[in-house]
Amino acid sequence: MGPSSASEPHVVVLATRNAGKIKELHALLAPLGLSVQGLDAYPEIGEIPETGATFLENARIKARAVCRATGRISLADDSGLCVDALSGAPGVYSARFSGENATDDANNAKLLAAMALVPERDRTCRFVSVVVAASPDDRELVAEGTWEGRVAAEPAGGGGFGYDPLFFDPQAGKTAAELTPAEKNGRSHRGKALAALVEKWRTGWTEVAAGEG
Ligand code: IMP
Repeated sequence: MGPSSASEPHVVVLATRNAGKIKELHALLAPLGLSVQGLDAYPEIGEIPETGATFLENARIKARAVCRATGRISLADDSGLCVDALSGAPGVYSARFSGENATDDANNAKLLAAMALVPERDRTCRFVSVVVAASPDDRELVAEGTWEGRVAAEPAGGGGFGYDPLFFDPQAGKTAAELTPAEKNGRSHRGKALAALVEKWRTGWTEVAAGEG
């Protein structure tokens, strides 16, 4: 068993208010005897600024902030799209690619414009998700998942969110927005990162080095 908080060691707080993510994680953690709370249970916790330069830093910032505020094991993910022809952009700035308060449509329009002259063979990209679990006794678990694809020439599909309509998965022969939620979870960066985290839950906890945040 991993580290535990003094009270209710079976409760894990997920640093999100997204009901879909909470449900997905609940299903993955239930077999370990763990139950999941979202931030809705802690209305006093406000927006946590993502000031890190990497997915790992941002996931750590969120997991530790929620762990400090709740005294419970807390779990956070940070994710984004990395495009090879754009030197890895938009990366950690994926949500804000077209500016603060950006919409998915504006981000996708900016991505298409930036890729307008890039030929098919050079349109490789990947979704990346890093998940961190932080414990009140200063230990953590880290896991990463990636999903390889290509930036499509035009959007397709009505499902998902974010860059899904432009993310073409060559193995599936569809964009992420054309997959069912179950198909997407089975292939996605986030699904892989969470599965890897659950795999490590019993044995993978490491001490957080002094000064590491
Ligand atoms: P986060 O919520 O800080 O992790 O920001 C993630 C951003 O990356 C989102 O706002 C999307 O723009 C993009 N992103 C991450 N995962 C996905 C995905 O599964 N589909 C589409 N876009 C994604």
